[in-house]
Amino acid sequence: MIERDEYKEFRNAVRRLTESKIRPYASQVDLEARFPEEALDAFKELELVALPFDESIGGHSGDVLAQSICLEEIARGCAASSLTLMVIWAGLVPVAKHGSPKLIEEIVKPSLEGDVVASICLTEPHGGSDVWGAKTRAERKGEEWVINGQKRFISNASRSDWYTVLARTAEDSFGIFAVHKSDPGISFGKLESKMGVKGSPTADVLFENCRIPDYRCIGDPNQGKFYITESLAYTRPLIGAQALGIAQGAFDAAVQYIKEREVFGQQVARFQMVRGTIGDLATKIEAARQLLYRSCEAVDNGEEEARVLASMAKLFCSNVAMEVATEAVQLHGGSGYLNDFPVERMMRDAKIAQIYEGTSEIQKLIVAKSMLSN
Ligand SMILES: Cc1cc2nc3c(=O)[nH]c(=O)nc-3n(C[C@H](O)[C@H](O)[C@H](O)COP(=O)(O)OP(=O)(O)OC[C@H]3O[C@@H](n4cnc5c(N)ncnc54)[C@H](O)[C@@H]3O)c2cc1C
Repeated sequence: MIERDEYKEFRNAVRRLTESKIRPYASQVDLEARFPEEALDAFKELELVALPFDESIGGHSGDVLAQSICLEEIARGCAASSLTLMVIWAGLVPVAKHGSPKLIEEIVKPSLEGDVVASICLTEPHGGSDVWGAKTRAERKGEEWVINGQKRFISNASRSDWYTVLARTAEDSFGIFAVHKSDPGISFGKLESKMGVKGSPTADVLFENCRIPDYRCIGDPNQGKFYITESLAYTRPLIGAQALGIAQGAFDAAVQYIKEREVFGQQVARFQMVRGTIGDLATKIEAARQLLYRSCEAVDNGEEEARVLASMAKLFCSNVAMEVATEAVQLHGGSGYLNDFPVERMMRDAKIAQIYEGTSEIQKLIVAKSMLSN
């Protein structure tokens, strides 16, 4: 188990925070499909928004393993809350990594206190799997960039203050840009009605002659492809962590239920077939955890295999989450089908991990390409 004492302490702190301040609202957030404001407030107690950022700018220099542990523990109680935090990080990290000191001062530093919400805008209507087919364009006009295009399925959309946007700057090159919600020309589509992670708002973000000052181009206007590829290798383990947390949360709920529930005059947990399921699921969860932590270690150490391990971890953890959550519903019998029990929400939430940040099929292609060297 790759876990030093300092991670254990951190895990316990996030677990306590989740149990006391986040889990109690998870069902309500889901049923009302509303933004988890309580979670955003709770994050401030442990300064979780600041976790991935360098100490030099006021962050906590938490590595990807620490970030994964954090999201895993939050997702164990509420997947939508873990997604909210993950997306804030995904929006801000490229600015902190590649932005000018002025951008870091204006966007990242004030965000670390935990009141600012951010989004990452990659997907477009023509197909999220084809990221480099993006049609959104950014043109430099005098002292400004003018952005035109449409982004689809953007998490935190309309609630976010800042949007990190991938846009084509020439035929074959991309840049990333920081757009504020009050910039002229940005608008939002209707909120999507979703199967799961209902507390996380999802909507189109539209740019119609959206004008932003020159300095809001993040880093080199022709290096967007490199910046995003680099950031996906880091965010994919985080989706794996979210999935693992959902799996663990569903497993825990199922174990509790089958110990309490009696059928045929005995605890459901006494049935041999049920014990087989429990043995299987526990093994898969632990295998997922080990692969995930190994991928985090590879990203943290800058290892060559980091990208492929990140894809493997995302693929495997999300499949395990879907399987465990579905079995957890089954182990609850009819009760599992009711929204009175958390496993119903967890099963719906688990599905998204197989879809966003590159579908399972895309992860398989990345792994196969690396194995076949072409
Ligand atoms: C709730 C939610 C939140 C999201 N949040 C964000 C966000 O914050 N920011 C953001 O940018 N995006 C976000 N997304 C978008 C998400 O990343 C995309 O939905 C995802 O990448 C898939 O793209 P698509 O939906 O266009 O599917 P498509 O690309 O249309 O794919 C359709 C199907 O074809 C398969 N497929 C595609 N290409 C291949 C291939 N080469 N070989 C085999 N199969 C293939 C896919 O696996 C899939 O099964 C979010 C999506 C959802 C639903």
